[in-house]
Amino acid sequence: MQRVDVSAVNRAGAVLADPDQWALFVDIDGTLLGVAPTPDAVTVPAGLVPLLEAVVRGLGGAAAILTGRRVADADRLFAPLELIASGVHGTELRADRGGAVAVLAKPIPPSVIQAMNNIASIASGILVEQKGCGVAVHYRNAPLARQALESEMAAIVAASSYELVLRQGRKVLEAVPRGYSKGTALTALASRPPFKGRRPVMVGDDVGDESAFLAAERLGGLALRVAGEHFDCGTADFDGVHSVRAWLEALARRMAMQYATRGQSSRTG
Ligand SMILES: [Mg+2]
Repeated sequence: MQRVDVSAVNRAGAVLADPDQWALFVDIDGTLLGVAPTPDAVTVPAGLVPLLEAVVRGLGGAAAILTGRRVADADRLFAPLELIASGVHGTELRADRGGAVAVLAKPIPPSVIQAMNNIASIASGILVEQKGCGVAVHYRNAPLARQALESEMAAIVAASSYELVLRQGRKVLEAVPRGYSKGTALTALASRPPFKGRRPVMVGDDVGDESAFLAAERLGGLALRVAGEHFDCGTADFDGVHSVRAWLEALARRMAMQYATRGQSSRTG
C-alpha cells in the first residue's frame, strides 16, 4: 500500500480529505471522553453516541474502539451501540458489531489481585480495579504514592508465575498479560473486513496508545495524538478532547455530503 503524503501540520485533515480510504481506531479516556477522578465518574457528552454511530456508518463500519477498559464498560458508556472494540489493552476483542467478546488471555490469578488489593493501603485514595485479564491501580487521588506503588507492583509482577507486564497510564499502573497491546488489536482487526484495504488511523492520548500508533504507521496509516498529561500541544495533533470531537463532527459531515452527492449523481447519471 502506498504511504500517504501528509504534512505533520495537518495529518488529521488528510483523513477528512478522503474518508473512504481510512479505518478509524480510537481510544476512550482522554480522547473521546475527558478524564475524571475515577473511571466510573466520566461523563458522556450529549450527542457523542449518535456522532459515533454516524462516523461508523460513514466509514462502512471500519471504526473500532481500542481501550484499556473492558469492552462491557465501553458498551455501558456508549449504549445502545456495541461497537467493534478491543478492551483491557488487547486482551478482549469483539471483532463484529454486536458480536460476542472473545477473551484472548487468561484471567489475572487471584493471588495477584489479592496482592494488589493489599498495596492499596499504601495511601488513601488508591483505587484497585479488577478487569478480568488485567488489574489496574489508580492513584489520581493519591499522586504522592506513585513511586511506592510502582515498586510494589513491579515486585508482585516479578514474583508471579503468570507472565505479566506492568503498564503505565494517566495516573494508573496496570498489570496485564505479556504479548497483548492495543497494537496487537489494531493489527488483528486491520487484516479483516471491514478494515482490510483501508489505511488505519489511530487516535489516542496516552502511553498505552503508542503500540497502536506504531502498528498503524507500519500499515501505512497515521497516528494522531491528543494533548493532555502525556503529549503536549506542541507535538499533538489535537489540543484536547474537544478538538477530537470537532474533527469527528467534520468527518461525519464530510461523509454525509459525499453520500448525498453520490446518491444525486447515481440518480442523474
Ligand atoms: Mg486514553
